[in-house]
Formats: sequence, structure tokens, C-alpha cells
Amino acid sequence: MGMSIIIAGGGLAGSCAALYLSQTHHVTVVAGSIVGSASAVGAGLVNPMLGRQAKRVWRADDAIGAFNETVRAVGAEPSVARLPILRPARDAKQQRKFVAAAGATHLGEWLEAAQSAESYPGITAPLGALRVAGAAVDIPEFCERVLSAAEANGARVLRERRITSWSSTERGGVSVGLDSGEPAKLEGSLLLLCTGAASPSLLPDANLSLHLIKGQTVQTDRPSATDGWPHLAGAGYVAMYADHLILGSSYEHSFTSAEPTAEATATILEKAGRLAPSLRGLGVREVRAGGRVTVPRSYLPMIGPVPGQHRVWIFTGLGSKGLLMAPLLASELPAYVSDDRTIPVEVRPR
Ligand SMILES: Cc1cc2nc3c(=O)[nH]c(=O)nc-3n(C[C@H](O)[C@H](O)[C@H](O)COP(=O)(O)OP(=O)(O)OC[C@H]3O[C@@H](n4cnc5c(N)ncnc54)[C@H](O)[C@@H]3O)c2cc1C
Repeated sequence: MGMSIIIAGGGLAGSCAALYLSQTHHVTVVAGSIVGSASAVGAGLVNPMLGRQAKRVWRADDAIGAFNETVRAVGAEPSVARLPILRPARDAKQQRKFVAAAGATHLGEWLEAAQSAESYPGITAPLGALRVAGAAVDIPEFCERVLSAAEANGARVLRERRITSWSSTERGGVSVGLDSGEPAKLEGSLLLLCTGAASPSLLPDANLSLHLIKGQTVQTDRPSATDGWPHLAGAGYVAMYADHLILGSSYEHSFTSAEPTAEATATILEKAGRLAPSLRGLGVREVRAGGRVTVPRSYLPMIGPVPGQHRVWIFTGLGSKGLLMAPLLASELPAYVSDDRTIPVEVRPR
């Protein structure tokens, strides 16, 4: 059978990579705690028309296909909230953009204000709304299911462990040091870093083009007024789960503390109230913060060999699109590992 691959990180990137690589390779995952990671914070929306202009995400159809295939492979379908995402237009300019976006894809349809009000009374959409084919999934639960499926394929998963160092071996592989506990080190033919915000500290010499954006989400009770509602995305967003809501999100490009703040919570709650009056005064259950890793300018993920390090690869830069990008690129990883020239040029590390 194939290579011996060590994956660091068990968030969306690491778990999905483990699932697909373990089909043909010997995989060991060193999965640091998910607490505080982006995968513990994400609201879980699967939104192929993101951003102010609702542009289709990169390779949207392939990404949706890979998400659905991964859900099927790990038996996660019962926990996926398959609801559309309603995006009320915030101003006339966005209205025009949304109408154009809806006309250019089968993934979204434009609802005039009256249509929106009829379908979704109680949701504020005086300029109409874009209805996007979407879903939501609890990311930590999804990652755990994906890791378990990788284990069923034969992967070894070391939970709550961290790699502390790595070095090249004389035999052309990689040796990895682990934090306290057994084993103390591992050797493999390839190390794949899926370590999110911690990646630059593990690659101090690589100078990769990565940027961290802190984000916060707020978990609240779900009022009965939201029965039958779609997920919502305007200035803020609301993911609908059976017994709770996850509200997002802040985007902080510079910050001094990684902890949640009361100020961000207040802003997130206020934005939800603007989407629908019945979302005012929600009971807060939990508040989380974490860092989205993005690749400046391209805003696409980064996957492949770290420049100058053929045996050390990185998989990060999932930004706000983790649920679409992680399954897509992880499902193609076995081909990339066989021949790294197959990695799309737009996502190669630089
Ligand atoms: C506020 C917010 C809202 C979001 N909402 C959505 C959304 O609605 N939909 C969506 O698709 N995406 C969303 N995202 C984005 C999504 O959460 C991320 O793109 C995705 O979770 C990133 O996954 P990752 O595996 O690359 O990184 P992470 O989730 O950060 O995982 C990295 C993992 O590596 C581990 N690690 C770090 N160092 C080491 C080490 N030395 N050894 C071993 N393990 C290590 C960490 O413990 C962690 O578990 C959101 C993100 C944020 C912050």
C-alpha cells in the first residue's frame, strides 16, 4: 500500500484529508484540541454564493458535490440542516448584484419583496432577497464523524496531541516530535500540516502568504417564531439548528486577544435583530471566537508542498468556506500526492 503520511490537525482540513488519504495510504493524524480552532467556531453554513456580491465560490459545483459525497461517506446526512439561505438585499446596489448573480447560476433565485414576504413573513426583506441552495452542519460533530470514518479506513488518530517539531530524515522522510505522552515521535514519508492559525509557527522560515481574521459566533436559544425559516445571511447571519441558532459573525483583521468580546456579541445580536424582529432579545447560550486563515488577494485555499520542502505539505486558507473547500481539496489530495503537478496553480503554496 501507499505512503506513510502524518497529518497534523483534526479540524475540517485535517479530518477531510485523513478520510480521503486513508483510502490508499497509511495515515496517522495528530489532532490537537478542536477548542479555540476555527472549526469549533464556524456557524456551519454551506453557502456557495458568499460575499457582498454573492459570487459563486471557486469551483462551486465540484465543492458542493464533494461536500455531499463526504456527508454520505461518513453518514452525516441526518445532522445536516438542508435549508436554503435567504439573503435579503441591503441596498439598491446589492439588489442589482443579487439579481444578476441569480440570473447567472442555478444555485440561487431572486425573490421580489412581495414574494419574500409571502414565503417568509417575519423576515425583513423590503428590497427582495436572494435564495441560495444551502445547508448547515455542526462543524465539530462533522469533523469527529469524518475522523471516525478515517479510523474505519485504518487511519490512526491521536486525539488531543500536538506536534512540537519536525525535521527531515536522512532517508528522505520526515520525523515529527510530539508533546508529552506516547508515542514521543513519529516518522513518515510526508507531513501534511492542517494546523490552521498555528501553521506559520510550525513553518517559521517559509514566509507563506497567510492572513488571520478573528471571528466570533454566538449560540442562542431558537424561538418558535423561526419554525419553517431558512438560514439567513445579511450583514450578519443565522444558521438554524433543531434546538438552537448560531449567529455570526465578527471579522477582525487586527486584534490583541483571541478571546470572545462582549462588544462583538452585542454587534452580532444587533445584526440578527435587523434580519428579523423576532430575533431580538435571544437568550445567549455560548460565545466562541477563533481565527479564519485566508490567503490575501486570491482568497482561495492553499494546498501542496511548502516551498523548498518536498516532504512537508500545507493545507489551509479555508477562510469562511471551510465546509465547501475542505471536502473538495481533500478528495483530490490522493491525486495531488501521487503527482503534485496536478495541484491547481491557483491554490499552490507561495
Ligand atoms: C467566526 C467564524 C465563522 C465561520 N463560519 C463558517 C461557516 O458558516 N461555514 C463554513 O464553511 N466555514 C465557516 N468558517 C470557516 C471554517 O470554520 C474554517 O474555514 C475551517 O474550520 C478551518 O479548518 P482548518 O482545519 O483549516 O483549521 P482549524 O479549524 O483551525 O483546525 C486546525 C487544527 O489544528 C490543530 N493544531 C494546531 N497546531 C497543532 C499542532 N502543533 N499539532 C497538532 N494539531 C495542531 C488545532 O488544534 C486545530 O484543531 C467560519 C470561521 C469562523 C472563525
